[in-house]
Amino acid sequence: MDPMVRVPVREQDPVVRAANFEEVCLGYSEEEAIAEASRCLNCKNARCVGGCPVSIDIPAFIQEVKAGNFEEAYQIISQSSALPAVCGRVCPQETQCEGRCVRGIKGEPVAIGKLERFVADWARENGIKPKKAEESNGHKVAVIGSGPAGLTCAGDLAKLGYDVTIFEALHEAGGVLSYGIPEFRLPKSKVVAAEIANVESLGVKIETNVVIGKSTTIDELMDEEGFEAVFIGSGAGLPRFMGIPGEQAMGVFSANEFLTRNNLMKAYLDGYDTPIASGKKVIVVGGGNVAMDAARTAKRLGAEVHIVYRRGEEELPARKEEVHHAKEEGIIFDLLQNPVEILVNEDGAVKGCRIIKMELGEPDESGRRSPVEIPGSEYELEADTVIMSLGTSPNPLISSTTIGLDINKRKCIIAEEETGATSKTGVYAGGDAVTGAATVILAMGAGKAAAKGIHEFLSNK
Ligand SMILES: Cc1cc2nc3c(=O)[nH]c(=O)nc-3n(C[C@H](O)[C@H](O)[C@H](O)COP(=O)(O)OP(=O)(O)OC[C@H]3O[C@@H](n4cnc5c(N)ncnc54)[C@H](O)[C@@H]3O)c2cc1C
Repeated sequence: MDPMVRVPVREQDPVVRAANFEEVCLGYSEEEAIAEASRCLNCKNARCVGGCPVSIDIPAFIQEVKAGNFEEAYQIISQSSALPAVCGRVCPQETQCEGRCVRGIKGEPVAIGKLERFVADWARENGIKPKKAEESNGHKVAVIGSGPAGLTCAGDLAKLGYDVTIFEALHEAGGVLSYGIPEFRLPKSKVVAAEIANVESLGVKIETNVVIGKSTTIDELMDEEGFEAVFIGSGAGLPRFMGIPGEQAMGVFSANEFLTRNNLMKAYLDGYDTPIASGKKVIVVGGGNVAMDAARTAKRLGAEVHIVYRRGEEELPARKEEVHHAKEEGIIFDLLQNPVEILVNEDGAVKGCRIIKMELGEPDESGRRSPVEIPGSEYELEADTVIMSLGTSPNPLISSTTIGLDINKRKCIIAEEETGATSKTGVYAGGDAVTGAATVILAMGAGKAAAKGIHEFLSNK
């Protein structure tokens, strides 16, 4: 075995998987995991740990994998992460832990994400649970939202003995892990539900169908329900649209709505008649990870799918792996193009898009070259469904119903990075609700920091 090259991971064949919702990546076997773990140099000054927003002791867990001690490896990971099977699947490791791996200087970095996934899957299959607190301390904390930020904050507080209740607006817990990321990247009942159950096994209670700001408010939770601190992890679920003519037509979806209908209303399962306009021709507008998920989902539902993105290949914000998988599955990329109108038939339904071609001009404030329209280059592309994937922002419901909670111009809650403390005493926040749409692991890091902040606040109270 060449130590410079990582052990390849098995994947479903692209032609087969483009027509099913089974997981694309099949993960390592025990032998493969041990072989890959043996590539770790067990660096004294492990740079990979600094690249992990929840500071998993990466060399320590990998050494346990190398020795075949998978349960011990799991306990090491679960001291820092409540969602290792999730993170092993969806974290952008190439820019985090693996991006700093010394092996990566001359060869391929150790497949830290795939090893984390292996350990978490092994623990689940063998009924291993994270360790819970020995004693309750009697303090009540409320967590709003059951996404990665809320689950992490709740799990860490429960481990410290707090009495934690998560309030979740939807009927299912998990946030984007449940309603956004598709089944073929992150299996719901096998992986997400199992990791949520692990958090519950620490003593965390989850109340679904409770919309904070409507069912009750943060002030009521604190003044009347006896919660001494609150963590807000309500995400950034409000979609943006382009504001072009025809956007109100039947058959135009936000990517969030399209993916939610697919995930929570089980459009991907035979036998469910889910109202999702999975037309024969679908245009997805945008080039991020969410756009790739929407496109690959529409493809699996039987459509021909075009991704229309106003910049070029280099500027695509999606992970390279996602773009690669989308291409392998037959998604058509119409780059340097932008819709200017959605064409609507006499019944009010989408019949296509008028699209203009673009070229790249001077860099904008983000440092990326701005797309500029090429006059006279417009053309029409037929479609019966258009999915807008242009980003999301936090819903202002919580900030507008909580006295003294400051937000910024982008409607994000203002919170200290170190502790998650907001402008309101006893109220903490983190994840997409604070940063705007970001990543699972950053949301988890923020949930962890806030758990520490809340612990310090309540210990000194
Ligand atoms: C389709 C898609 C794919 C993605 N893919 C990846 C990926 O591959 N890798 C990656 O790292 N990141 C990915 N992300 C981003 C990542 O999922 C988010 O950054 C992360 O989930 C944010 O976590 P969070 O806990 O802050 O919020 P969320 O996951 O959004 O959870 C917030 C929760 O709060 C609930 N809530 C909101 N308002 C209220 C209220 N008023 N009362 C009660 N509950 C409320 C919501 O229902 C939700 O369950 C993806 C995002 C999407 C949409």
